[in-house]
Amino acid sequence: MDHVTHIINNTQWKGTAERHGTVYNPATGEISATVDFATAVEVDLAVQAAASAFATWGTTSISRRTEIMFRFRELLSARRAEVAQRVSAEHGKVLNDALGEVSRGIEVVEFACGIGQLIKGEFSENVSTGIDSYSIRQPLGVVAGITPFNFPAMVPMWMFPVAIACGNTFILKPSEKDPSTAVFLAGLLKEAGLPDGVFNVIHGDQMAVEAILDHPGIAAVSFVGSTAVAHAIYERSARAGKRVQALGGAKNHMIVMPDADMDIVADAAVNAGYGSAGERCMAISVLVAVGAAGDLIVEKIRERVANLKVAPATDPAADMGPLITREHRDRVASYLDSGVKEGAVLAIDGRLHQIDGDPGGYWLGPSLFDNVMPQMEIYRNEIFGPVLSMLRVADLDEALALIKSNPYGNGAAIFTNDGATARRFQTEAEAGMIGINLPIPVPVSYYSFGGWNQSLFGDLHIYGPDGVRFYTRAKAVTARWTGISHTQTLNFPTNS
Ligand code: NAD
Repeated sequence: MDHVTHIINNTQWKGTAERHGTVYNPATGEISATVDFATAVEVDLAVQAAASAFATWGTTSISRRTEIMFRFRELLSARRAEVAQRVSAEHGKVLNDALGEVSRGIEVVEFACGIGQLIKGEFSENVSTGIDSYSIRQPLGVVAGITPFNFPAMVPMWMFPVAIACGNTFILKPSEKDPSTAVFLAGLLKEAGLPDGVFNVIHGDQMAVEAILDHPGIAAVSFVGSTAVAHAIYERSARAGKRVQALGGAKNHMIVMPDADMDIVADAAVNAGYGSAGERCMAISVLVAVGAAGDLIVEKIRERVANLKVAPATDPAADMGPLITREHRDRVASYLDSGVKEGAVLAIDGRLHQIDGDPGGYWLGPSLFDNVMPQMEIYRNEIFGPVLSMLRVADLDEALALIKSNPYGNGAAIFTNDGATARRFQTEAEAGMIGINLPIPVPVSYYSFGGWNQSLFGDLHIYGPDGVRFYTRAKAVTARWTGISHTQTLNFPTNS
């Protein structure tokens, strides 16, 4: 059995941690590893290491920082299969899906390789006679990232490549449910030549997180996880005077107009609803059938679901793996009962789906509810599993109103063949990321990722240009090197 521990100053922390967690193989239910849980003591050691590394890393040349990022990118690319295998083993998602998340993480590293271009300031000559003004962006210092279980490679890479390329030093607290990918990434960063202490990994639960939020040596916190925790993190970090961005949960709607190609719609709904067992923040969980679209969608999804292979990631033919924990699997399954009780039609019951895996695994096949109403629990809550809910509405106005009244606002998609309808949707949909004829509109790394409303607390989105803004602070300089004379005036300085 593996033992996963903290990485402080590029070395495994050999202290005697009193608290541990257990990591399971979700495809079998067997214990695969134990993981040390940090207290404020280990967090403080990581902050000390990161603070001491910042003294040199913060002023290390852009060219050297870029060189290390490039090397990290090459190592990641060469060893992406190993990263993906780790993700699959602890998370349960199928290998191709895990490879996809690694690729999207690599794209952020590639973005960070362009830091020389991204971090440029502005310069204005002669803003007043003989006076120039310019702006520079400087790193914040020690920053931290707290990440969820569902993307153990990609979500940390939404954060640390940009933070480190900007000159900060980083403490990552990955999910305790699948912690070893973070340790593997730390090894690659070390191999790429990243100096000791620039990237540290601290494992644990709420105690470790709160020690991070309260530590005065940490300047900023990036969080990705569920909404309730995101909100608490936002409040506590802000109270401690930290810069914070806290991305929360989601309930992403996919609107289907009657003019859409229903085969494309059904493919998209199945891919985006059941991929990664629905454990994606950008998963589609709500289908909104406008007008006559509904009946056809149900039949076409049913045909496709019948062919889905639910099996462990080690099976090359697997389409969908298990859920993350037994408790989570049971919680998701309980929504199948609650939806029926509230009057929704369970058109596809995932509990009846054939499972080609160990009976000890946390399995649940894909489900589809039809005739869902907005007041039902299955609509109001984030289920975060392979359960699609379909609502039927009369027109686009009603579909847009549904999205607007939903508390989340991560992604929203529309399927239509009409440009004017799509354009109206893009303008009016109350969500941070919009898909037109594609269901999972995760922005490329040179745009930024972020939802609205209860899906993000904070002012800046993550990675991309907003990531650079988040991990740097601006300074404006006004300089005079000519025409300096002895004048004395207490008046407010004016330009001439
Ligand atoms: P989670 O909120 O339970 O955990 C996220 C992180 O917070 C973990 O590192 C965990 O150890 C820590 N944590 C958990 N409870 C805590 C508490 N009470 N106090 C302090 N820290 C705590 O989320 P999860 O179950 O790991 O991930 C799934 C959730 O993440 C879903 O809601 C999903 O929508 C969301 N998510 C959102 C995005 C996005 O971009 N908006 C991306 C991925 C996942």
